[in-house]
Amino acid sequence: MTIDLRSDTVTKPTKKMLEAMFSAEVGDDVFSEDPTVNKLEEKCASLFGMEAGLFCSSGTQTNQVAIKLHTQPGDEVICDANSHIYYYEGGGIAFNSGCSTKLLNGERGKFSSADVLNAIRAENIHFPHTSLVSVENTHNRGGGSIYDFNELEKIAEVCRKNNLSFHLDGARIFNAIVETNKTASDFGKIFDTISVCLSKGLGAPVGSVLLGTREHIYKARRIRKVFGGGMRQAGYLAAAGIYALDNNILRLKEDHSRAQKLAVILKSLPYVIEVMHPETNIIYFRLADNFPGNDFQQKLADNNIRVISLDNQVIRMVTHLDFNDEMITRVEEVLKKLS
Ligand SMILES: *Cc1c(COP(=O)(O)O)cnc(C)c1O
Repeated sequence: MTIDLRSDTVTKPTKKMLEAMFSAEVGDDVFSEDPTVNKLEEKCASLFGMEAGLFCSSGTQTNQVAIKLHTQPGDEVICDANSHIYYYEGGGIAFNSGCSTKLLNGERGKFSSADVLNAIRAENIHFPHTSLVSVENTHNRGGGSIYDFNELEKIAEVCRKNNLSFHLDGARIFNAIVETNKTASDFGKIFDTISVCLSKGLGAPVGSVLLGTREHIYKARRIRKVFGGGMRQAGYLAAAGIYALDNNILRLKEDHSRAQKLAVILKSLPYVIEVMHPETNIIYFRLADNFPGNDFQQKLADNNIRVISLDNQVIRMVTHLDFNDEMITRVEEVLKKLS
C-alpha cells in the first residue's frame, strides 16, 4: 500500500468515473462542438450563477488566461506573496501578460480590503496602472485557509469603486464551500472571473474551468487558443469533471476530518514543534531542527508514505479521495516509530 500525501492532485479516476469518460459523447471543441465540454461549462457556470465557462487544461491555464483577460502589458496585479499565481506559475504574470505584481503579505495568504486600498497605484505617469486583484480560496500555501466571506465582499467593493477586475483562484473553492454556509453562487456574485480545479479534491484526472460573463469568456476562449490550450475531443476529460461535480463535492468534508486527525497525531510527536491548524485538507508542520526535513521525507518514503519537504523544516501533507482511515492508522504507526 502506497500512501501519497504530497497533493490532492495524485488521485486516480475511479471505475465509475472512467465509465463516464468512456461513454462520453464528443466533438471538436475548438469549433465549440463537443457536447460534453459544453455541458460541463454550462453546468459549472450555472452552479456559480455566472454566465459562461471555459474548460482549460489546468488551473495554471485558467489563472493565466484570466490575468491576460483583465490586464494590458505594463499593468500591475495585486496578489498575495504566497499566492499560486505568483509563487507557483513560473513567472507567468510577467511572461504571459507583461505585468508587474504588487505583493501583499496576508495572514495565511489572506489580505484585507484595507491592504488592497493601500496597494492601488495613484494616477501618475511614473506608476504602473493597477488593473487586477486576485485572491485565493482556499489558500494553498496558507495551509488550506478559508477566506472570510465578508472580507471578500469588502475587497469586491474596493475593486468596483476603483475600476479593478477581481479574480478568484478557486482551485479549492469547494473545500471552502463545504466548510462554510456560503454557496457557489455567493462567490459568483462578487467576482469577475473564477477559476475552479476539477483535478484537486474533486478527483478528476485533468482540467479546470474558468467562469465569467459571456463577454469575458468569449475573449478568454481566444486567449486560451493563443496559449495553445484549444483541445479537440476534450469531452472525454470533461465527462470526468461532470462526474466529479455530481459526486465528489460533499465528500470533501471527509478529507477535512482526516486532516484534523492527522494534525492531532502530529501534535503528539516529540520531533514536531509546530502544526498549522488545518482549516481544510492541507497540513503544514515544522520539524525540530535536529530532524532534517529531507531525512524525514526519505524515512517515510522507505515506508511507502510520500510527503513534501519544503524549506525551513516544513513538511506538507494533503488529504484526498484516495486517502482513507486505514491509511491514517498506518501513517500513525510509522510516525510513532520515527520518534
Ligand atoms: C493546484 C493549484 C492551481 C492550479 O494548478 P495546476 O497544477 O496548474 O492545475 C492553481 N491555484 C492553486 C491555489 C492551486 O493549489
